[in-house]
Amino acid sequence: MKRFFNILLSWFIIAFLLIGLFYLYNVLNPKHYLYLGEDAPISTELHPIVEERKNILISEARHIGIEVIITEEVRTMERQQALYDQGRTSDGSIVTYAEAGESYHNYGLAIDYALENNHGELIWNIEYDGNNNGKADWFEVADIAKQLGFTWGGDWTHFKDYSHLEMTFGLSIEQLKQGYRPKEEIKDVIGEPK
Ligand SMILES: [Zn+2]
Repeated sequence: MKRFFNILLSWFIIAFLLIGLFYLYNVLNPKHYLYLGEDAPISTELHPIVEERKNILISEARHIGIEVIITEEVRTMERQQALYDQGRTSDGSIVTYAEAGESYHNYGLAIDYALENNHGELIWNIEYDGNNNGKADWFEVADIAKQLGFTWGGDWTHFKDYSHLEMTFGLSIEQLKQGYRPKEEIKDVIGEPK
């Protein structure tokens, strides 16, 4: 009986150590995404960190005399497809290379911006220098956004999208389509705003 108890105790200790190691492994290597499967819900609003950084971007730009207007946030699959069709099967010029489900906008991870002048008019001119500091406001906004962890479409080489800002959280479009989603509490992945 004593021998049986000792064996049982040994197994308990081994199990306890394994659980401890597993816990330690997860603490040291936190996953920054969740797998929700094929039925993963489609975002109807911005990811909370994107929302937070968007608001910081607007206030930091305002601080240096630039009024940022967010022209697009979450985009439904239907709207994405309509945009993709533009210049292909419908009138107009091509505005995107992303079909439905292939844009970070579809997952609440991207925003588009423009500027506004003192008269409340939208500015799409990327050379515009409304705060008269010798630097184009559009690029100043992009610089702030990049410091906040956004990737800027103006840095793309294949198709420049100067309005576009996205946060991928290390997830590819392919992973998002498969049902992976960024966790909500992953500030350590992109760092705190400077
Ligand atoms: Zn965009």
